Amino acid sequence: MENNAAMRTWLDAFNLSHPLVIAGPCSAETEEQVLKIAHELKDSDVSVFRAGIWKPRTRPGGFEGVGAIGLKWLQRAKAETGLLLAVEVANADHVQLALEHDVDVLWIGARTTVNPFAVQEIADALKDTDKIVLVKNPVNPDLALWLGGVERLYNANIKKLGVIHRGFSTYEKTKYRNNPEWQLPIELQSKFPDLPLICDPSHITGKRDMILEVSQQALDLNYDGLIIETHIDPDNAWSDAAQQVTPSALKQIFKDLRIRKITDEADDYNQRLEGLRTQIDEIDSKLLNILGKRMKIADSIGALKKERNVAVLQNKRWNEILGKMVLEGEERGLSEEFILKMFKAIHQESIAHQEKIINS
Ligand code: PEP
Ligand code: MN
Repeated sequence: MENNAAMRTWLDAFNLSHPLVIAGPCSAETEEQVLKIAHELKDSDVSVFRAGIWKPRTRPGGFEGVGAIGLKWLQRAKAETGLLLAVEVANADHVQLALEHDVDVLWIGARTTVNPFAVQEIADALKDTDKIVLVKNPVNPDLALWLGGVERLYNANIKKLGVIHRGFSTYEKTKYRNNPEWQLPIELQSKFPDLPLICDPSHITGKRDMILEVSQQALDLNYDGLIIETHIDPDNAWSDAAQQVTPSALKQIFKDLRIRKITDEADDYNQRLEGLRTQIDEIDSKLLNILGKRMKIADSIGALKKERNVAVLQNKRWNEILGKMVLEGEERGLSEEFILKMFKAIHQESIAHQEKIINS
């Protein structure tokens, strides 16, 4: 798949002066609930109404969605409010039903994107239709698998495409429900600048009071849109209660979000930016010089260890270095997470250098 401007024509057709907003409940529960939420979202920044009809649940026994009947409620919501409809599809039957009920946007959920057979089945069912299809990232941080999903749709001649970043599962607990790993969508965006990128702060955070913060981060990274779970009675929602917001809380989020321009044509801005970038470029060259020097010293240590037949890895020394660097880093405003990541990378390279010398 090549970067292709046709992929974003559907987004441009909305002709918005702000990012695209998709909002609505995690799950359609009752006709009354669907209609109430849709009416409250009408006349806001929301363009597309979302609702889960079939819910993939981690364990059996939970609420698995109302099924096809909910599509009739959505159709009524669309007729009454003019909002477009977005629904998650996980197999060819879902696609067929969504097409029969005039769903405008179909999204592939995180648990489906991991399965190429399922994505292919969906792509085949949608072949040659002009629906908008959004692919959520797979639950595991695998960019190739995510792009592979988009590619299957593209090959089925579906050109109105986009991706949704909903974060990634981690074994260790973090403050997020699904860790954002921002570097993955950023890499995807740099490879495919014309593929619309939408953030799902609801599933990233799992908590309604973190939605604004993560939405702002996404907008600061030039995301094209947001999908935010919205419910009239979030605490009593049948799924994902903790992360849903009320329609009025959603409107407040839009008021609080700062929408920044991609760039500024003014000369003074460009001159100042150029000056700062020159400084950064100089520092980056110096950093590389220093790292090169450090590796030369590691080579000498490797030679010395070889001479005395001593093992390359010295854990005690390494832990001392790390502890010291975390403290020194903090004094310079650098986070512990960054220091640990950076020194682990430097240490690995240093060990590789020493290994090479010791085995030469
Ligand atoms: C959802 O959007 O309600 C959903 C199930 O999301 P995900 O596939 O990201 O878990
Ligand atoms: Mn949900």
